[in-house]
Amino acid sequence: MPVTLEVIIGLEVHAQMSTRTKMFCGCDNDAFGKEPNTTVCPICMGHPGTLPVPNGEAVQKAIRTSLALGCTVNGDSHFDRKHYFYPDLPSGFQISQYDFPLANHGTITYDILDAGGAKVAEKTCRIHRLHMENDAGKLTHVGSRTLCDYNRAGTPLMEIVTEPDLRSADEAVAFAQELRRVLVAIQASEADMFKGMMRFDASISLREKGTEKLNPRSEIKNLNSFKSLERALLYEEKRLRNLWEEQSGPLKGNITVGWMDDEEKTRVLREKEDAQDYRYFPEPDIPPLHFEAAFIEEVKKKLPVLPRAQREKYVALGLPEAKALQLMDDPLLRSHFDAVLERTKDVKKASGIVLTQLIGFLKEQGKTLDQGPSKDAILELVDAIESGTISGNAGKDVLEKMITTGKGAKEIIAAEGMQQISDDSSLQTLVDRAIAENQKAVESYKAGKQAALGAVMAWVMKETKGQANPAKVNEMLRKLLETPDEN
Ligand code: ZN
Ligand code: MN
Repeated sequence: MPVTLEVIIGLEVHAQMSTRTKMFCGCDNDAFGKEPNTTVCPICMGHPGTLPVPNGEAVQKAIRTSLALGCTVNGDSHFDRKHYFYPDLPSGFQISQYDFPLANHGTITYDILDAGGAKVAEKTCRIHRLHMENDAGKLTHVGSRTLCDYNRAGTPLMEIVTEPDLRSADEAVAFAQELRRVLVAIQASEADMFKGMMRFDASISLREKGTEKLNPRSEIKNLNSFKSLERALLYEEKRLRNLWEEQSGPLKGNITVGWMDDEEKTRVLREKEDAQDYRYFPEPDIPPLHFEAAFIEEVKKKLPVLPRAQREKYVALGLPEAKALQLMDDPLLRSHFDAVLERTKDVKKASGIVLTQLIGFLKEQGKTLDQGPSKDAILELVDAIESGTISGNAGKDVLEKMITTGKGAKEIIAAEGMQQISDDSSLQTLVDRAIAENQKAVESYKAGKQAALGAVMAWVMKETKGQANPAKVNEMLRKLLETPDEN
């Protein structure tokens, strides 16, 4: 009888912290798009005799993250040197944290959603540890040559290591997405995957269901997107299942594999090196870190509402789960939405304007959110709708034109003569004419056919090219027609 196998997955996540300067020197931490080797100095180039100084902003952000993940921030921790030789590492060692990391023992609760965005399960993954370290440079292989760019060398990183609590590729991805939301919400990292600001190493092993022992694992290095995380795990799971069948059991020892994105398969790189191969020892140039409990409490108090709680708030207001998630994944979108919600106090309206119309028109025009109207420009439009200057329907056209032309709502409304007709005397004239011109419909309405009023309404809207205030016209018509005939 075939055994039932269970998949065991753990993640190591590297996230770049969004700081002004690098981890141990004053170099610009934003190297994206800059000439290679222009944001470097003797410290991040590892020159002898230079002294690294920890970046206070980075330490603060790492503590914020630790607390947001429910970790205990250790009162005492220190940096260590992790030695390995590679051309992207100018000093021959990485400054990391080994036996006394910044924080331990956290958890992330995350949701599993179905294809329609509805929540089907709630899961928890424990965080084993969080530590700080500096990033290496970047190598580009061109033919038989390798080019080194050290702009990224020294960038502050958090390494977040989970317990092996994840049971499928789906869970791993859902966890990673929730982690990303937290990092972005607390402004610890932009976690822009396209820029390599968040990267995963995933460990996977199999065991017989019902057993507790962890078997040797395969570690998949350097996955740069949720998609490659998912595909690599699915591939490796299948490979390990086949191996299990062939050799009637798990891997004989730990291995390290690489994910070949274009070939869609993993390749064995090496047997896992032991910690002792790195010859860790305490970094002699940086004093140990010490944090008072009161200081940590202060940082904790300043944490914003975390994504899950925020999402639950949106859902409680009536927003579907998938839309709430969409907001949590994009801070700019959320800021637009919050502003419109604040102004209209109406979730449906805010969702219609921001999540349906704005996103839809931007997509049609091939633009990104930051290329669209600013928050203030959107609010100008919302004010025009809320005050009755234009109808909600006309608002849609205005928004589309705002995106095409970059002009403001007021300007477009004035230029196109789109103001809604709301004043009573103009409407009264219109309604009187409507009744005179639509005698047949008026009579069937009076005879009890409610729907006939629609024909009269349609005439008014056509006559005014949609600019009559429909609610007011409707009210006036009903009032007039329900007055009993005098003769
Ligand atoms: Zn530097
Ligand atoms: Mn690391």
